Amino acid sequence: MSKILRVLVSLLFLQASASWADSDSVYDSFLQCLNTKTKSSNTTQLASIVYAQNNPSYTPILQAYIRNSRFNRTSTPKPLLVVTPLTESHVQASVLCAKLAGVQLKIRSGGHDYEGISYWSSQTFIVLDMFNLRSITVNIEDNSVWAQAGATLGELYYRIWEKSKVHAFPAGICQLVGVGGHISGGGYGNLLRKYGLAVDNVLDAQIVNANGELLDRKSMGEDLFWAIKGGGGGSFGVIISYKLKLVSVPEVVTIFRVEKTLEEDATALVLRWQDVAPTTDDGLFMRLLLQPVSSKVKKGEKTIRASVLAEFLGNADQLVKLLGEEFPELGLKKENCTEMSWIESVLWWANFDIGTSPEALLDRMPNDANFLKRKSDYVQTPISKDGLEWLWKKMIELGKTGLVFNPYGGEMSRIAPSETPFPHRAGNLFKIQYSVNWEDAGEDLEKNYTTESKRLFSYMTPFVSKNPRSAFLNYRDLDIGASSNGAPTYEEGKVYGVKYFNDNFDRLVKVKTAVDPENFFYNEQSIPILPSKE
Ligand SMILES: Cc1cc2nc3c(=O)[nH]c(=O)nc-3n(C[C@H](O)[C@H](O)[C@H](O)COP(=O)(O)OP(=O)(O)OC[C@H]3O[C@@H](n4cnc5c(N)ncnc54)[C@H](O)[C@@H]3O)c2cc1C
Repeated sequence: MSKILRVLVSLLFLQASASWADSDSVYDSFLQCLNTKTKSSNTTQLASIVYAQNNPSYTPILQAYIRNSRFNRTSTPKPLLVVTPLTESHVQASVLCAKLAGVQLKIRSGGHDYEGISYWSSQTFIVLDMFNLRSITVNIEDNSVWAQAGATLGELYYRIWEKSKVHAFPAGICQLVGVGGHISGGGYGNLLRKYGLAVDNVLDAQIVNANGELLDRKSMGEDLFWAIKGGGGGSFGVIISYKLKLVSVPEVVTIFRVEKTLEEDATALVLRWQDVAPTTDDGLFMRLLLQPVSSKVKKGEKTIRASVLAEFLGNADQLVKLLGEEFPELGLKKENCTEMSWIESVLWWANFDIGTSPEALLDRMPNDANFLKRKSDYVQTPISKDGLEWLWKKMIELGKTGLVFNPYGGEMSRIAPSETPFPHRAGNLFKIQYSVNWEDAGEDLEKNYTTESKRLFSYMTPFVSKNPRSAFLNYRDLDIGASSNGAPTYEEGKVYGVKYFNDNFDRLVKVKTAVDPENFFYNEQSIPILPSKE
């Protein structure tokens, strides 16, 4: 494109950006730019991947992967365009054209960001929606799988299972989560005590950088490769795909769910859980859910229900014996246990009925969302009995927000904190997720529940990590710090950055400054660049 034409396109974009109503001109200029950058003669195909606001498909496309109804309102800021690339070259061109236009590019894979920052912004923006790029190529011979960013975890697990019943991948529990955002942010699931996080099992990757170049591990270099294994999506480029190392699972695994309320001495169970869950056999993952519920014993009163949901890489006899010795407070019996294949356990964790066909993992179930708020914390010393009893009172007082304790230890403790950007390794007993879901819209309801989760977070202060009070990036929480307007400054980024990345924050900033010095890729909690010396 000649210099004059480039200036004209930029001007047209800028003009269009100022006027949201003028979506025709934005669309035309973007399309023209895509045409030029892809050197494509197929204008019809290009036209079919760009959705302007006046296109009847714009809203369904935008809403299809909104997984948190808090950000699905008329007042939620909308993108100028939604671009749905079919090829790597479409991604490359989209980066260059958004850059030329001076508009922010928000990247969306599965849309599960808890604060919705893949599809809204306070800035003028375009959504690059990766759902068409979702191929999965499993290679059992070399124990690996290439998964494109737009694939869901359910699709990944299904394709592995199609090829082998004794291979798996250690990633998240919800089958609808997208590969792109999930792995960029660390990615944990019920195999983490045995095999670590998703990012501990990444072998290679493809990324489109801010210059529109398509790079793999070799061409991007080890610093950038390190950064995209947990440093968060939307900071370094557009992930096209990850090459992942498969792990082995036995033909039979065992799952169980055991629940106790305070009347059944849930306190003793939780006390003991804190010792056992992070130290037991690496093949055992016992998640603990704590929820205020109505008491069945004391009518009209509330109690706390402690539910242990677990998966063991072995059979029921071995598990009952192990927990009989280590965790008698649980009272696990063989009849509480169900033996199944690994893929059946994936379905069980995803709340499907036992016996559901694995094909259910291929269902993307668009637009199936509640209102959600999440926060996170790390616990490094067990909470005392007095502490727990005080906590129960506070949870009952607040009424709705639950806590999910996810045990660490095992492989998580053997990986150095600097090995990947995700730093929360040895010394962390478990991670807490604060979890509140509601079904009805309304500002008062939202204020009520988000305030409730903040209050519980505040009550937890004495029990959790300090200096910094660490947090898990995949449980995105804008309350812990965010940019005030547009790209975060270094000082703004440091506030949330040290919580998510601890001592790895500065290395991430260095990588970011080297690979994207103009800070083209940014969001409310992206990695900032170093302040310029002028
Ligand atoms: C119901 C539910 C269950 C969950 N369960 C788990 C769990 O078990 N374990 C766990 O670790 N996390 C879990 N999460 C959190 C989830 O892993 C993160 O929200 C993750 O970032 C979602 O990825 P996504 O692609 O679906 O989201 P998106 O909203 O599409 O993206 C999230 C972030 O990554 C960026 N991004 C997305 N795609 C790309 C790309 N291709 N290149 C560069 N940047 C990109 C986005 O811009 C955004 O900043 C869960 C979330 C939900 C809502």
